[in-house]
Amino acid sequence: MPQYEDYVNWRRTFHQFPELSDVEYETTKRLKRILESYDIKVLDLPLETGLVAEVGQGEQFVAVRTDIDALPIDEQVIHEFTSTNKGVMHACGHDIHMASVLAVATRLKAIEDQLNGRVRLIFQPAEELGYGAFHITDTGAIDGAKAVLGYHNYPTLDIGHFAVKPGVITSSVDRFEFKIKGKGAHAAKPEQGNDPIIVLGQLINSIQSIVSRNLSAFDSAVVTIGEVSSGNTWNVIADQAYVQGTVRTFDAEKRDYIEARLKSIGKGLAEAFGVDIETIYHRLPGAVENDEKLTNDAIEVAKQVGYNVEIMDKPLTIGEDFSGFSQKYPSVFVFIGSNSEYDLHHPKYDPDERILEKVPDYFITFVLKLLNEN
Ligand SMILES: [Zn+2]
Ligand SMILES: [Zn+2]
Repeated sequence: MPQYEDYVNWRRTFHQFPELSDVEYETTKRLKRILESYDIKVLDLPLETGLVAEVGQGEQFVAVRTDIDALPIDEQVIHEFTSTNKGVMHACGHDIHMASVLAVATRLKAIEDQLNGRVRLIFQPAEELGYGAFHITDTGAIDGAKAVLGYHNYPTLDIGHFAVKPGVITSSVDRFEFKIKGKGAHAAKPEQGNDPIIVLGQLINSIQSIVSRNLSAFDSAVVTIGEVSSGNTWNVIADQAYVQGTVRTFDAEKRDYIEARLKSIGKGLAEAFGVDIETIYHRLPGAVENDEKLTNDAIEVAKQVGYNVEIMDKPLTIGEDFSGFSQKYPSVFVFIGSNSEYDLHHPKYDPDERILEKVPDYFITFVLKLLNEN
């Protein structure tokens, strides 16, 4: 049966050969090779990348999920397993997650006969694009799951620390764009043009009024403009302008509301200034929502395997594609300490591998508890 040293080796190999979202071909092959070397069944599903493996027998099943993709970041950490794929790095620790779920799969395989049900191990592609969970859920392979369990390593938590909360735990992550088409002219003859930069200025103010003026003091949301552009010299009135940014919300109602406000601001300003404004709203992952009962189970199991458990008082404003599962199936997503000086998505992100000592115990204990109840 594989041991901690094997988990570390797996993680290092994944780290050395990272692949971007939706092109995790070698990673998928490597996962398959490892699983098959332990005689673990890989389901035959129409997936380009990623896979679902299975151990156990019987009707009921629970699922454990890891993501498998890396980021377009040039690694700045030097170790013997530094990324060999220039400009691509496992800077979100999905290498750690894969090693964890492989450990769970192989250890459960060793006690397969005793399992009172099945466990599906989800190796999900394209988490960083916010839709990879749908590649898996679209296959129907998770339909009927009693529970879906997942985690993210968390650099600001120490090794041995665990954080969770019931209900919403991460925000939805959406992107908006405004494309303003005015009319260019000589800078000295504004009456002959229709200046999109004036509209741009109004637009920035109006967007910023949504959270400050339309939401109650007791509601929370983030609306950030990340990019504006227009014009390219000093003596010409530009003919177009562009604005894009992100919206983070914690419930569907506010999400819908902010999307509607952005669209009506675009429409109103277009009318007021006689320009053409195209407002585009991209819905990326929704908020991850933890099932109440499973959250209590998670806390109990975490304590049982020796974690120092912290109950979060508010959700994080980061997005997580695990929402693709939590929207459809009873789920619980937790954060486990990986103690890195640099944050997730940083070129110097360097998690402490000792996280791999206990994570498999958490999932295995949890899975057995769920399969053995009632
Ligand atoms: Zn990430
Ligand atoms: Zn991640």
